[in-house]
Amino acid sequence: MSPDANNVGYDDTPILPGTDWHVHDGHRPQPPVVTPGEVCCDCVLVGPPTDAVVLFDGTDLSGWISKKDDGPAMWEVTDGHMQVVPGTGPIQTKEHFGDCQLHLEFAAPEVVKGDSQGRGNSGVFLMGLYEIQVLDCFDNPTYPDGTTGGIYGQFPPLANACRKPGEWQTYDIIWEGPRFDGDALVKPAFVTVILNGILLHHHKELLGITNHKVLTTYEPHPEVAPLELQDHSDLVRFRNIWYRPLAEYDAG
Ligand code: MG
Repeated sequence: MSPDANNVGYDDTPILPGTDWHVHDGHRPQPPVVTPGEVCCDCVLVGPPTDAVVLFDGTDLSGWISKKDDGPAMWEVTDGHMQVVPGTGPIQTKEHFGDCQLHLEFAAPEVVKGDSQGRGNSGVFLMGLYEIQVLDCFDNPTYPDGTTGGIYGQFPPLANACRKPGEWQTYDIIWEGPRFDGDALVKPAFVTVILNGILLHHHKELLGITNHKVLTTYEPHPEVAPLELQDHSDLVRFRNIWYRPLAEYDAG
């Protein structure tokens, strides 16, 4: 961390290619705050469409395992949502999948505790490798490439579209995974991210797997992999998780 007390990030990390900014640079411009539209009827929850693969319907974690030991996922399930149990580690879907439209909802702890990366931190790890940040960035500055919806350590979101801590928030993510020919990358990953109805990334090309404080590269992996949710020791909740494979219908 920088000796400058006003710097919410790092200035001793590598420069990101094509930019003047360090990885997690605290001086990079903060994403503009955009307040999401008001929720009607006190609920943002819309159920999965008929062709969705449901990964979590609010009842149990039978579709998930602990990443630590491949045993049962040990997060808590109550009132239609799951909640991180700090120390139990990240959890992964049993389902392995690739290119998709993913929907999920999350809520930061209502009781505000900590700041910067220490407030309501979790993460949506696409294919277990590419993190779309989950954080409570409501009135909580942090390094821009670690903002809620940031492609962690690579690209800040186009907006800070967080709802207040404790409120449910929606992620809609379109994911195109990378393709490899042996060890060679033949197509990078692309992601589109919408938070609470607000576009954060539009078909953004990833630099590689996401990581902390270092420049990234791609590492070869299969075209399908589990979805992972991060245990960053904060009591973040998730619900209504499903995906639709990206596929074109046969138009004849
Ligand atoms: Mg995180």
